[in-house]
Amino acid sequence: MSTDLYELLGVARDADADTLKKAYRRLARQLHPDVNPDPESQEQFKLVTAAYEVLSDPQKRAAYDRGGDPFSGGFGGGQGAGFSFTDIMDAFFGGQGGGGQGGGRGPRPRVRRGQDALIRIEIELAEAAFGVSRELKVDTAIRCTTCSGAGAAPGTQPVPCETCRGVGEVAHVQRSFLGEIRTLRPCAACRGFGSVIADPCRDCAGDGRIRSRRSLTVKIPAGVDTGTRVQLTEQGEVGPGGGPAGDLYVEIHVAPHATFERNGNDLHCTVSVPMTAAALGTTIALPTLEADLEQDEDSGVETSFDLPIPAGTQSGHQVLLRGRGVPGLRGGRGDLVVSIAVETPGRLDARQEELLRELAAIRGEEQPTGDVRPTHKSMFGRLRDAFTAH
Ligand code: ZN
Repeated sequence: MSTDLYELLGVARDADADTLKKAYRRLARQLHPDVNPDPESQEQFKLVTAAYEVLSDPQKRAAYDRGGDPFSGGFGGGQGAGFSFTDIMDAFFGGQGGGGQGGGRGPRPRVRRGQDALIRIEIELAEAAFGVSRELKVDTAIRCTTCSGAGAAPGTQPVPCETCRGVGEVAHVQRSFLGEIRTLRPCAACRGFGSVIADPCRDCAGDGRIRSRRSLTVKIPAGVDTGTRVQLTEQGEVGPGGGPAGDLYVEIHVAPHATFERNGNDLHCTVSVPMTAAALGTTIALPTLEADLEQDEDSGVETSFDLPIPAGTQSGHQVLLRGRGVPGLRGGRGDLVVSIAVETPGRLDARQEELLRELAAIRGEEQPTGDVRPTHKSMFGRLRDAFTAH
């Protein structure tokens, strides 16, 4: 990197003050940390600023041209980094005949948009699956009716601030190598509003809003899951000065279900069948998730269905029932996976034991050796593989 100050600014050795100023301004626009967060640019900005501090001072420049060390006087370099980009631009553009955009930003508005609010509710699995309407109690700021959000007692008006003459900002002037740097700060007397409420509304203490508890109904769409947020536009906090309300987010938590476990849009459950039924085959009535919904007797909603268990069904066998899961938020419906658990009879009486021993004898199973093999990956995984393969 060049250490020649003229090269750093990209100007000729005989450049006049105006050329130097333009060159520095151009570089500051590219390199200032407020504009360019790249660490290398920040280093470059410090060097360029140090160069300009020397070359813009006729005495320092003359000393440098004679071969002197420009930083011998305990000069730290990079002081310009202490000024914001706006300060530097104001120093170049501001205060010169009042033209351009060198002025301040004016008073800050009393009326601002309110914050978003969040509440969490718990719903049942069937409600999450098929949608539900819920009455909610919400506690948010609402517009003060006494002053209609203005904050001033009825019949009074905010008056212009005498300290800043209604501008909301006061100027602070600092001397620097750039000349005078004028920074505008919010007026302390009116907190930057430019006006003062001499007689605040008694109900809202001048804030233009009060807290209120109210009821509202939220429609929760079918297919939501734990963590889903339903957005209610402009039902959040009213802003300062009675400003527009933020949004209200209702975050869903789905309660665990006694029968079904949810996995995405799929449901899982386990059905236990006696060993004899699994061997001989049977039919089991399985409840549907719809059975949880409140419904009229003749609504026609299927509350259960028959699941055939074929003769010879093994424990751990899984049945995939398409479209009996949870509806998706974007349409479609997940599946139901039923795992069969075959229950071995315990506590046999004499007669039952006699029958089982007779059965074992007929089947040649009196001295089973066991069939030892690696543990399978889950049956469900294999079932999925089979489905996606076709
Ligand atoms: Zn009020």
